[in-house]
Amino acid sequence: MQDYQLYQQILGIVAPWRVEDVELRLEEGEVHLFLGHESEATWTCPECQAECPLYDHDSERTWRHLDTCQYRTILHGAAPRVRCPEHGVRVARLPWAEPHGRFTALFERLAIDWLKAASQQAVADRLGLSWDEVHGIMQRAVKRGLARRKREKLEYLGVDEKSFRKGHRYLTLVNDLTRGCVLYVAEDRKRSSLDGFWPTLTPEQRDGIAAVALDMWDPYVRSIRAHLPDAEEKMVFDKFHVAKHLSEAVDKVRRTEHKALKKIGDERLKGTKYDWLKGRNKFDFSEWRDFCRLRRSNLKTSRAWALKEQAMRLWDFCYVQAAHKHFNWWYRWATHSRLKPMIDKARMLVSHLRNILTYVKHRITNASSESINSKIQWVKYTARGFRNVDNFKSAIYFHCGNLDLSPGPT
Ligand SMILES: [Zn+2]
Repeated sequence: MQDYQLYQQILGIVAPWRVEDVELRLEEGEVHLFLGHESEATWTCPECQAECPLYDHDSERTWRHLDTCQYRTILHGAAPRVRCPEHGVRVARLPWAEPHGRFTALFERLAIDWLKAASQQAVADRLGLSWDEVHGIMQRAVKRGLARRKREKLEYLGVDEKSFRKGHRYLTLVNDLTRGCVLYVAEDRKRSSLDGFWPTLTPEQRDGIAAVALDMWDPYVRSIRAHLPDAEEKMVFDKFHVAKHLSEAVDKVRRTEHKALKKIGDERLKGTKYDWLKGRNKFDFSEWRDFCRLRRSNLKTSRAWALKEQAMRLWDFCYVQAAHKHFNWWYRWATHSRLKPMIDKARMLVSHLRNILTYVKHRITNASSESINSKIQWVKYTARGFRNVDNFKSAIYFHCGNLDLSPGPT
């Protein structure tokens, strides 16, 4: 009798439940605990919480619990059924597990804590679970967390795309830039990918959005225009997306010029690709001196580079009019540069100018939340075993959603 009580206490089984039998299966490294309850106990209807007498029992089920003394611990029990005058015969809720769960709440909590710090495969190996079981725990945790999410005010959002499987597939992410968490994940980067986000907001949340950072990507623009009031004032094209476009153009100029120079035996541009693309702060003193010497040696690539540097100054301005004036000066220079890749990008920027200049007012970029980006890198890194996009989505919500994941009622 005494070890029953000991197990009861260790496992946190409380009245009316009690441990009625213990079976140690040494060879399997398992301990099986059979639970029963006091016969005079009353139960509540899971729908309306009305107290009802016992009707009968559901069939016996098992739950994996926290290990005791390194023994895998399995609970056995049959859930009581009640007959509620209003709802008919219903299975009463058990205190140690969620309906249909195969693990106790304490066990799920342990697995969730581990998942926060280790890959799914490592948690599966360590806890002796299958990969699907670990994934199920993660998915249930995310579902609970999303259901518990409070309808807080959302001020600054970022719409960002993330590649999945070496750039062949994409996910669309909506980030809360203020809190540094992911609010929404959808497959692909179509208008419909982002359209699914808006119905998750209350009208107050939608009206409270001050600005949205995004790439110059037409499907996103169309979705925002269709769903956000005064969208033209609130869309801010991402600084780093513009920088990426300009870097591509600089690189195109360099490749063409390098080919032409090589033909006449000039190897000045050889091995310099990343020097033209990296930021000034990535050079050390002597590298920067060498690079400056190269820049001054009358190259088309130098002009393209200078154009990019000057374009990026747009983000330093505090007044829209001054920024606009700077852009006009730059645009004239770019379009007269006789560098086709730069002219193309200048035309692209002028057609998106209105929502580039909105930065001056809102001052947001998709890099505003570095913590999200570094966490997603981690998810990707530990996700090498990911078999499908759904799993990647759950992992993003799990690690970056700032959700209350713990087991228990939602
Ligand atoms: Zn009821």
